[in-house]
Amino acid sequence: MPAITNIKGIGPAKAKLFAQLDLNTVSDLLHYYPRTYQDRRPDAKLSAFKRAESVAGIYTVIRTQSIPAKALLIFKAFLRDDAGNLTEAVWFKKKIRRFDPFMQMRRDFKPDAKLWIIGKRDDKSSFFSNKITVEEYYPVNSAEAKINAGRITPVYSLTQGLTNKFFRAAQFYALSEYLQEEKEVLPPELTQKRNLLNIRQALCAVHFPKSASELESARRRMVYEEFLLMTMAWGIKKRQTVRREKGYHYEIKRTLLSKFKNNLEYTFTKAQVRVINEIFSDMQKSVPMTRLVQGDVGSGKTVVALCAMLLAVENGYQCAFMAPTEILATQHFITLNRYLKGLDVKVKLLTSKTPKKEKENALKYLAEGKTDIVIGTHSLIEDSVKFKNLKLIIVDEQHRFGVKQRAKLRAKAEFTDMLSMTATPIPRTFALAFYGDLDVSTIDQLPPGRQPVQTEHLSETKAFETVRSEAEKGRQAYIVYPLIDESDKLELKAAVQEYERIKRLMPQFKIAMIHGAMKSAEKQKIMEDFLLKKTDILVATPVIEVGIDVKNATVMVIQNAERFGLASLHQLRGRVGRGSEKSYCILVSQHASTVSLERINAICKTGDGFKIGEKDLELRGPGEILGTRQSGDLEFKAGDIIKDKDVLRWAVEDRDWLNADDPLLQKPQHAAFKQRLMELYQKQWNIIDLG
Ligand code: ADP
Ligand code: MG
Repeated sequence: MPAITNIKGIGPAKAKLFAQLDLNTVSDLLHYYPRTYQDRRPDAKLSAFKRAESVAGIYTVIRTQSIPAKALLIFKAFLRDDAGNLTEAVWFKKKIRRFDPFMQMRRDFKPDAKLWIIGKRDDKSSFFSNKITVEEYYPVNSAEAKINAGRITPVYSLTQGLTNKFFRAAQFYALSEYLQEEKEVLPPELTQKRNLLNIRQALCAVHFPKSASELESARRRMVYEEFLLMTMAWGIKKRQTVRREKGYHYEIKRTLLSKFKNNLEYTFTKAQVRVINEIFSDMQKSVPMTRLVQGDVGSGKTVVALCAMLLAVENGYQCAFMAPTEILATQHFITLNRYLKGLDVKVKLLTSKTPKKEKENALKYLAEGKTDIVIGTHSLIEDSVKFKNLKLIIVDEQHRFGVKQRAKLRAKAEFTDMLSMTATPIPRTFALAFYGDLDVSTIDQLPPGRQPVQTEHLSETKAFETVRSEAEKGRQAYIVYPLIDESDKLELKAAVQEYERIKRLMPQFKIAMIHGAMKSAEKQKIMEDFLLKKTDILVATPVIEVGIDVKNATVMVIQNAERFGLASLHQLRGRVGRGSEKSYCILVSQHASTVSLERINAICKTGDGFKIGEKDLELRGPGEILGTRQSGDLEFKAGDIIKDKDVLRWAVEDRDWLNADDPLLQKPQHAAFKQRLMELYQKQWNIIDLG
């Protein structure tokens, strides 16, 4: 790859500035796409003057004037546009002795000279005199004018010391001298099938498009390449996982499973049965399972996971069940113990708050294989946690964990089966494209008798009326306050003050408060009291956001709802409507911005987790949702997986075609594609060479 210093005008000093943008070779430069474009075509209707509006057009110089002032020199030009309108442009420069800062301009702005003027309309313009602030100007027939004016002009994000004018010239030079060295990486069959521009056409058009439609074709082509490479890499990773034999097997003995099913006070929904079967059949395969169970809040994922765990325990293996919060892990511990009453299954809880002595014991039992199931938080990842015979890993609310955390837990033992669960489902195309290494099961049905939660955006007064009337009927309520950082003392203090205020407002009810900074035992006691209906109202921070399951709770009041993300709102709402009683979710907001109102409205309008997932993706971007933000897995240079959904669909289809046609990418026409794939993903994702 030729170094960037091969470009005319880029010496060692300038090269340093380019290096700040990660641009070290000519090819890097060519693949640095514009941030935006300005329409500077001659017929662009920009001269219709409006305040602060961009101006780009050819002007004729009438005359110029230099005005000396105290510390400044002022240079004025009187111009005329094509339509005969008069315009004034003014420049100010600091006086530096003997040096004339306007020397070059005096040469360029000779009377009758024609110039391209690019700038903004000045605020001081009136009907009689247009004033513009000139940002760039180019003599009409100059080489510079060809690059910077009279066309759709690229605008790049740059660093201090680089101007767009200089950058465009560099880009133009790179395109005219080095374009031939850019190799096509896309398989020719696919460029043809999708009727895509080739790489050279596309690069030219991305930087210097001849028309808006040419630009769009070029952009789509770059996006397609990006998506295809990414989704291909996922696919290869999946094949590599699948190829490994795990070397142990399961037998459905029913020693535990039957007893458990008989103890259960309800029957599984059809969707649960289907998903349990999918999981069992995966576990019985000779290669490790990597399965994601998605199901809306309240769809009953916990028992599904429990069935998988019981199958493992029946076969003498250990399981780890990881949840994102201590409260949720504790609740799972309580639930599992209840479900498993009378069964010979040993369950332990392990969180960062587990007392030292207990923790040491738990670790010992785990290592000796005396514990069958360990439930915990991130603390399960710690090095001190060792297993004798770990075979099954369950990650609840998997979107709350990063890729690395999940991978680290999995690395605790070789060839483990992995089951992840989420209530923030991702649309199918994204699942296909970016969860390529996962199989997805969907619980698309709620247990019978559930009613949709009535969701409204109301005043606090109205919200508390509902709390009162429901509590009088013997039901329970949550009132949640935002606490972005559970260790933030000021915010916590405010929440505690609110708790005191609510107690004064509703003295007839038993009210408790729970937050993250409390001692473990205290939290456990408060949750148990609420579950056993010793308290009516629970004032809480978002520590209760996920997983909490109290059937008798029918009201969820979310204070400062504008501060919660869409997924959080949906999760919080999911804490009610878990029994057969009608439930309410009331959002109370303070100073909601347009975006937060959009979130609040979306939540009020739909209860469908899939739709919410899609909207969330749109409002927040994919990285956060897929839980991969930390690893930077999903950053695209050109593509936007929302706007370019249809391109993504192509990429997924074509990946499948490639996998069928030439899975190892051995055909000569796929060599360049393979090479680029390896360059991009081999190291990052630990992809073994395709061979
Ligand atoms: P989530 O999918 O949100 O994790 P949970 O596993 O917490 O949901 O289940 C929500 C509630 O539904 C629990 O109280 C659970 O006991 C109950 N439940 C699960 N499956 C069924 C079923 N088939 N019939 C009735 N209730 C069920
Ligand atoms: Mg759950």
